[in-house]
Amino acid sequence: MIIEGFPAAVAAWEAGRIVRGHVLAIVDAGANLPAELWPEFEKVAIERCERDTPNRVRGELEILAHRMHPRSFAERHEEAAAGRCVRLVPGRDGMSDLIATLPTVIAEGIHDRLTQQARAIVDTREERASKSDVVATDQRSTDQVRADVFADLLLSGTPALDDTRDTAAGPLGAIRARVQVLVPAATLTGADDGPCDLAGRSPLDPATARTLAGGTGMWERLFHDPTTGVTVATDSYRVPSGMRRFLQARDQHCRFPGCRVAAIRCEVDHTHDHALGGKTELSNLAHLCQRHHSMKQFTAWRVRQLTGGVLEWTSPLGRTYREDAPTPAVTFTPAETHPGDPAPY
Ligand SMILES: [Zn+2]
Repeated sequence: MIIEGFPAAVAAWEAGRIVRGHVLAIVDAGANLPAELWPEFEKVAIERCERDTPNRVRGELEILAHRMHPRSFAERHEEAAAGRCVRLVPGRDGMSDLIATLPTVIAEGIHDRLTQQARAIVDTREERASKSDVVATDQRSTDQVRADVFADLLLSGTPALDDTRDTAAGPLGAIRARVQVLVPAATLTGADDGPCDLAGRSPLDPATARTLAGGTGMWERLFHDPTTGVTVATDSYRVPSGMRRFLQARDQHCRFPGCRVAAIRCEVDHTHDHALGGKTELSNLAHLCQRHHSMKQFTAWRVRQLTGGVLEWTSPLGRTYREDAPTPAVTFTPAETHPGDPAPY
């Protein structure tokens, strides 16, 4: 224990010159100093402690330790400030801690602004309630309002420090939060109240998932088949890895008639162009090798996707070719089963 490094303080406590709280204050403040300075520090500290209570000397001891430190406070602070960061720590029951390590003055400033804004909201609510017979529906505590204001500012605010305006990133304020949410079909309809999945990180409560599925630009939704767990559609242009795996198993190779370039060396193409409103969903995606991908883009060949992953190609001369999806190496249980149905085996 570090208290062993401060024998004079312990001796002074045993002799009744100071109390236990003094010893703890001395150890707390002294621990920030290099160990070779501890004896000198505790000598001065004990003298100060003899004149006042532990609570009153605590701040003084910290300042004393800072003064005695061989490196200036400014120097040490600069080094510590280089470690500033924001960390996300998953918690229980669909909650997480967002922890920011910041210079104290910034952290205090943020907390103070949130507190002032939260109090203003609570005061306004109470003032309105006192003037009318309407019972206030907003029952949030100051803590809750503070957290809500915090989230609101960070999700919708535009940073004042923005040197990206002329870069590819664009103005920072235009960058919106993006989170992947897995929404089982049964939860959307309200038939199931089980938790949804926040991109494989943690469960998400069904009410939030339903709200998000209602449509918002901020969240990247992954709609998945409740039976197979396969993602069948998403909002983004990018094809998530789960869909990519499913498509690889379905297509196995380039889907131009007769072409056998392996899926792994192909690109996943939006059959109906994404830029023209084509969705990122299994029934609008197919593997094409580079050659047939450009052929589709730059020649008069046309393609449309029928049910079951069947592609219908039309040549520039108007002849159609039907390209069935290969028999998959992996078969998936059909999605028509419902809880309570007899088992399919
Ligand atoms: Zn091909």
